[in-house]
Parts: sequence; structure tokens; C-alpha cells
Amino acid sequence: MKKLNVVIWNEFRHERTKEKIKAIYPDGLHAAIKSYLDKNEDMEVSLAALDDPDQGLPDERLENIDVLLWWGHAAHKEVDDALVEKIRERVYTGKMSFIALHSGHHSKPFKAIVGTNGNLSWGREQKEIMWNLMPSHEIAAGIPDHFLIESEEMYGEPFYIPQPDALVFGAWYEDGHIFRAGACFNRGAGKVFYFQPGHESCRSYYNPYVLRIIENAIRWAKPTEHGYEIEDKCPHITAAITEEFNQL
Ligand code: ZN
Repeated sequence: MKKLNVVIWNEFRHERTKEKIKAIYPDGLHAAIKSYLDKNEDMEVSLAALDDPDQGLPDERLENIDVLLWWGHAAHKEVDDALVEKIRERVYTGKMSFIALHSGHHSKPFKAIVGTNGNLSWGREQKEIMWNLMPSHEIAAGIPDHFLIESEEMYGEPFYIPQPDALVFGAWYEDGHIFRAGACFNRGAGKVFYFQPGHESCRSYYNPYVLRIIENAIRWAKPTEHGYEIEDKCPHITAAITEEFNQL
């Protein structure tokens, strides 16, 4: 059986520069997620970081990824635009799926793939209740009707995303805000999931339900076998047409 090639990409700066964050995630928050996922024999999970060569995703690696998870925050602008375009292309042609975690709502790939500015409302860290809005969905498997996250950064509505194709989780916060916290999008032949928990100074990537949702989302996101190559260029644009246009 071919294993699902899963890469967890992390900006991986807060955990290396701030003692408080390092104490929570000594090897990075991506490593905490990986250590939970490693029990799955059908997945090959590896890590990538912004400061790795080729920002962690050289072509030969990117071309083999089935599901790419993305956590970025303060260095979104440093991500190479050409890499973002390659990621978007792989998702649109159904070769790879994309899961944006927490502050990944403002990442270049999420914005480019989904088509949004990613803006939302922010608030203080507080108690959050995650509501299971769609128990029939594969991503909600094993998740109760609601669960408590002791402390998370408040992300509130309006969240300027296009209408999700499925809204699996909704968040309620102590201060009364609500948020579309777990949303699926189909883009081209590919799949995208956004999931809100995961602020670097909170401990959400140790919460068993948060981790189970990420695991479920990876399985849901497994690329479909199309059995054909999806064309991305109009075959009617010939060299002759291009030559004519060049003469204008
Ligand atoms: Zn945050």
C-alpha cells in the first residue's frame, strides 16, 4: 500500500525565539502534530520549515506531497511567490490537498487557493467551545457534539472567506464571539480545509480532539485518483496565434 505523503510546514520562528513558546512546543508545533500522527501506518509524515533550504519545499519534494499542512504567522510575506503558485497549481489539478492551520488564514497559499484576503476579527486568549456542526462529515468522525478548548486566541466573525463548501465546526468564545472554525473548500480538482485552533502560546496541538480532527482532515483530503491529467492550457492557442499577437 502506498502511504499518504503528508508534510507539515511550519514557519517555525516563535518556537526558536521565545522561551515561553519553546517551553510549550520544544521541537516546534509541527513536531507536536507529527508525534500524534506517527501512529498511522498509512501515513508518511514529515516536517518542513521556512528557514530550510528552498523554504522546505524543493520541487522534487513538493511533487510527491499528497497533503500539505501549513502553519505561518509573522513571516507570511517571506514565502516565495513562485512556490505559492506551484502549491496552488498542485491543488487545482487535484494532485495535492491543502490544510491551513490557525494563523494560516493569512498565508499566501491559503489566500491564493481559496480566493480571500483571509481577514477576520481578533481577540484575547480565552475559553473556546468547538461545536460539531456536521456529525455526518468524515472530518467530524469520533468528535462529540462539542468540546472545550481551555485557552485559545479568539478568532471571530466576520471571517472574509467565500462560502465554504462544507462548514464542519463552529466556535463559541467566552466573550460571545462566534467563528466558522472548520471549513472545507473544493478548488479545481483539489480540496482545502481550514481549522482555527493552534495559537502558538496555547496548547491546542496537545488536545486529543483537535488532533483527531487534523487526522480526519488528512484522510478526507487524500487526493482523488482521476485517471487522467487535468489540462491547464487551452490547446487552441497555437504558436501561430501567439506570433500574430506578438506583432500587434
Ligand atoms: Zn495566533
